[in-house]
Amino acid sequence: MALDKIEHIGIAVKDLNESNKLFSQLFGEAAYKMEEVESEGVKTSFFKTGPNKIELLEASNENSPIAKFIAKKGEGVHHIAFAVEDIKAEMERLALEGFTLLNTEPKPGADGKLVAFLHPKTTNGVLIELCQDR
Ligand code: ZN
Repeated sequence: MALDKIEHIGIAVKDLNESNKLFSQLFGEAAYKMEEVESEGVKTSFFKTGPNKIELLEASNENSPIAKFIAKKGEGVHHIAFAVEDIKAEMERLALEGFTLLNTEPKPGADGKLVAFLHPKTTNGVLIELCQDR
C-alpha cells in the first residue's frame, strides 16, 4: 500500500477564463471539464495533455483556500495529487507516520473523486492531495 501515480497537478489562478485560454494554447486542446466545488470555494477546469492531467483552480469566494493561497504566494502550483486505491487506509497510514491531515474523513472533490489533503507544514511546503475514484 502506498501512493500511486500522480493523478493531477493543481495550479491556482486568479481568472479561470483567462487561464483556460492560456492553457488551451499551451496544450493545444481545450479543457475537457469545468466544475465548481462549492464546499471548497473553488471553480476548476481540467486539461489532459498526454497521460497527464492539470487542474486549474480559481477562488469562488474570498474565504476560499485558493484566495488565501494567491494572497500569500501568488498564482502557481498549488498541489500535487496522488492516486490511491484505498484512501481511508492511506490516511490512517500517513497519520501514523506523523503527517498532519487536513481532513479527518475523505470528502467529495472535483472530477468525481474522493479526496483528502496533507498539511504542507509536514510535507516540506507541498500540499499533497490523495484521491480515489468514487
Ligand atoms: Zn486537485
